[in-house]
Amino acid sequence: MISQTLDKIWSSILQFSATFVTPDWGALIGLLPILLVIGVVGPIVSLLALAWFRYAAWRPRRATKFAPEVRAAALDADGNPVYPVGEPYSPRERVIYQPGATRSASGEELVLGCPKCGLVRAVTIPSCGNCGLSFTLKPTTRSLRPAGPPPGGAATA
Ligand SMILES: [Zn+2]
Repeated sequence: MISQTLDKIWSSILQFSATFVTPDWGALIGLLPILLVIGVVGPIVSLLALAWFRYAAWRPRRATKFAPEVRAAALDADGNPVYPVGEPYSPRERVIYQPGATRSASGEELVLGCPKCGLVRAVTIPSCGNCGLSFTLKPTTRSLRPAGPPPGGAATA
């Protein structure tokens, strides 16, 4: 008698707990993509992020070089130097100086081409005598240029 009652109780407990214990496979399979994302992609992404942060924090500082004070003027097809407008240059030395420079290494006064009309004047003259364009060449932070030739090959004027 008692064992029967216990049996009943036990089976009812089993049935009751079965609702919790037995997985609902259909629902679980439906959740599989989400679980996959959480369980597989998530850790991978976070590991990658961690690795990236470590790399960003620990990577050796790349040696950044300042652009040289002067750079040689590019030559056109005929071998004549091509000077960019708005940048001081020395026509005798055929080198282009950083903005803000007024004299070449040999003490020669630098000239620049007007960005608007192309008229070449001394750097020390503040505004163009032809078109009146006035701009200041500030000796600000030195620009960083790639050490090698610019990507793309042929020099652009
Ligand atoms: Zn001008």
